[in-house]
Amino acid sequence: MTASDSSADSSSRTPRVALVSGAARGIGAAIAQRLAADGMSVGVVDVDEGGSARIANAIVERGGRAVAVSADVADEAAAAHAVERVSAELGPVTVLVNNAGIIRDNLLFKMSVDDWDAVLNVHLRGAFLLTRAAQAHMVQAKWGRVVNLSSTSALGNRGQVNYATAKAGLQGFTKTLAIELGRFGVTANAVSPGFIVTDMTRATAARIGADWDDYVQQRAAAIPVGRAGQPEDIAHTVSFLVSEGAGFVSGQVVYVAGGPRA
Ligand code: NDP
Repeated sequence: MTASDSSADSSSRTPRVALVSGAARGIGAAIAQRLAADGMSVGVVDVDEGGSARIANAIVERGGRAVAVSADVADEAAAAHAVERVSAELGPVTVLVNNAGIIRDNLLFKMSVDDWDAVLNVHLRGAFLLTRAAQAHMVQAKWGRVVNLSSTSALGNRGQVNYATAKAGLQGFTKTLAIELGRFGVTANAVSPGFIVTDMTRATAARIGADWDDYVQQRAAAIPVGRAGQPEDIAHTVSFLVSEGAGFVSGQVVYVAGGPRA
């Protein structure tokens, strides 16, 4: 069975086409696979070419439609090319999930300009470039969904002045997209995860010299639902926000953190 046959979207004949950035692993990979399971065709975009191909192949093996595209989202030409390549292969991109991200943590007084620029470029410039390229397809279709990955760190987090700034910036970006694009049937929302088990949080534990299992246990103890988050927790929320029925939910920031705050 192909993804077209199994489309969960009963209100349109052709499957929606989603582009998920940073989808080679972690949260992005879970989102890409969830949207494919929901019946969407998925562009798996990442700087990691082999990783994107693995995720795209896994989707195809399960009967879905996917294409892997290698791109640095912070590069203007590469971001535009990624949107056009996915649109050419699968159909116009009308669902965009800006998930690609990096961390370069340090206290303000030790933070280099390179680490500041690198983080702002991937999160903010990358989301801007992909969204600017994809919105043309959404406006033409008079339907679209944008989801930006923010973070509980947007509320402030020691050692992450670059990352917190980028994640707070994405919230303003999201709300402005919602205002500008709403009349074209396009919604924009942000998801702010708390502690999620991925390579990114493993790297944080390694950087502070913490044993991974102890670190997860300690973080989970501070979370009201009593466990660490998994990439699938975020994918489930994104699945709702990009669904046909979520057309009146726009400009919102949904904290998915197992409790009311980080
Ligand atoms: P990972 O580091 O596990 O995965 C991020 C992916 O993005 C990697 O495959 C990475 O490729 C890719 N990527 C990085 N830079 C670029 C770029 N310039 N262009 C294209 N792809 C790129 O991170 P997570 O899955 O943990 O995080 C996903 C998103 O969720 C991020 O935006 C993150 O900030 C956010 N988030 C995560 C939380 C967590 O607890 N894990 C909490 C809150 C928010 P490569 O590995 O080759 O660099």
